[in-house]
Amino acid sequence: MIKVGIIGGGASGLFAACLLKYLSKQTGKDVEVIVLEKTDFAGKKLLLTGHGRCNITNNKDVRILKDGYHEAGNFMYPALKAFDPKMVIDFFESEMQMSTVEQENNRIFPASEKSSTVLEKMLNYIGAETIVTSFDCKDVVLRQGQVDVISKNNETRTFDKVILAMGGKSYPHTGSDGSSYKLAQKLGHTIEPLRASLASVDVSSKDRELTSNISGVSVEADASLFYDRRKQAKTHGDVLFTHRGLSGPAIYELSREIPLDIGSRDGWIEFDFLPNCRDEEVDLSLLAKIDEKPNRKLINLTGDYVPASLSQEIIKLSTNKADVTQIYAKDTDKSLRKAISTSLKHLKFHMESAPNIDTAYCTRGGVRLSEIDKETMASKLIDGVYIIGEMLDVDGISGGYNLQAGLSEAYVVSKNILG
Ligand SMILES: Cc1cc2nc3c(=O)[nH]c(=O)nc-3n(C[C@H](O)[C@H](O)[C@H](O)COP(=O)(O)OP(=O)(O)OC[C@H]3O[C@@H](n4cnc5c(N)ncnc54)[C@H](O)[C@@H]3O)c2cc1C
Repeated sequence: MIKVGIIGGGASGLFAACLLKYLSKQTGKDVEVIVLEKTDFAGKKLLLTGHGRCNITNNKDVRILKDGYHEAGNFMYPALKAFDPKMVIDFFESEMQMSTVEQENNRIFPASEKSSTVLEKMLNYIGAETIVTSFDCKDVVLRQGQVDVISKNNETRTFDKVILAMGGKSYPHTGSDGSSYKLAQKLGHTIEPLRASLASVDVSSKDRELTSNISGVSVEADASLFYDRRKQAKTHGDVLFTHRGLSGPAIYELSREIPLDIGSRDGWIEFDFLPNCRDEEVDLSLLAKIDEKPNRKLINLTGDYVPASLSQEIIKLSTNKADVTQIYAKDTDKSLRKAISTSLKHLKFHMESAPNIDTAYCTRGGVRLSEIDKETMASKLIDGVYIIGEMLDVDGISGGYNLQAGLSEAYVVSKNILG
C-alpha cells in the first residue's frame, strides 16, 4: 500500500486524487490517497472557472497546444503528450460518466455547462472520506524515507509520497493566496517572480474617461504593449472597454508581459483597429469617404471602421470637443483627418501600475521549472515530493489550457507513483 498525501484540494489536487484511484484500478496496485485542503471545502476556484461553466480543456493537437504555454511549452510537452486533451475527454466521459461538449475554438466544457458538475463528479469519484478540510499545511519534512506534512495546528500526517498542489496567488479568497510559494521556498525551491497573467488592465486616470464612456463595448484589434520606448509584445483579438480600463482576450494575453514596475517605465497599450491597412491607406480611405459624401455626419463616417460609440470618442479626442454630433465630413480639414486616422491605427492607453494579481485568472511565475523533472513532476530537490498546477512557473493562454496543464501534470505524477 502506497500512502499519498495531496496538499491542496483545488483543480490539480482533485484531478491527481481521481487519477491515482483510476490508475490504481488499472495496475492493481493499492494506494491510499488523502487530500489536505486549507479552506472549508475543496474546489472553490474550480467552481468559478469558465464563468461558472468550466472550460476543462482545449481539443487541439498537442504540438499546437504546447505553444499556448509560452516559455513553458517544452517543459509541458511530455506531460501533455502523456495525457492529451482527447484522453482527458475520454476520461471524463467514460470513467467519470460526464458528457462533454466542444465549443468555439476547440474549447471543451461539461455538457451541463456547469462547473459544479465537474466538481461533483470528481468528489463522487474519489469519495468524501478522501478529503480533509481546514488543514492549513505549514511544513513538509522528510523523515526516514517518508514525508511528514504538518498543519498550522501542529497536526502531523505521514505519507510515502506527497504532491504539492496549493495553487497560485490570484483570487486569494478561494484559498490560493500565494502561501504555496513560501512553502516551496522553505523546501529549497527557487520562485520565479510572480505577476498577473490573463488579467484586465487599469489605465491611467487621464485615459480612463474614454474607456469608461464606452464601457461594455468590444472591438477586434491588434493590441501592442510599449514600454522603455519600444514595442515589447503584440496580440490580436477582442478588446473590451471597461470602467477601469481594458479587458477581453487580447488584453488577457498581453497582461502577462506587463512588468511590475510599468508605472515608472512609461508604458502604454496601443490599438490598431485596421491592421490590414497601412497608415496612409487609412488616410486615403477617409479622404475618399469625405469627398464622396461631404454632408455625412463625421461620427457615422468613422463608424464605418469601428463601433459607433468608439467612433464618437475618437472624434472627441481628435477635435477636443465634448459634443461632436454636429460635425460633418465637409468640416474635416487635413489635420483632423490625420488625427482620426492616427487614432484608428495607434490609439494609446497609458498605465500607471501593473495588472492586479488578485483579480487575474492565473499567476505567471512560481516554482522554477529546471528544479522539476518534466517527465514525472518530481521535485529534483526533495525525495518523495511532486509539484503540480499553478504553483509551477507555467501559465497558459485562455481556452482550457490551465486546467489541461494541471490534468496532464496530475497524470504523470500518478503514473510515476504507481510505477
Ligand atoms: C475566475 C477564474 C476562471 C478560470 N477559468 C478557467 C477555465 O475556464 N479554464 C481553465 O483552464 N482555467 C481557468 N482558470 C484557471 C484555473 O482555475 C487554475 O489554473 C487552476 O484552478 C489551478 O489549479 P491548482 O489546483 O493549481 O490551484 P487551485 O485550483 O487554486 O487550488 C489550490 C488549492 O490549494 C489550497 N491550499 C493553498 N494553500 C494551502 C495550504 N497551505 N494547505 C492546504 N491547502 C492549501 C487552496 O485552498 C486551494 O483549494 C480560471 C481561473 C479563475 C480565477
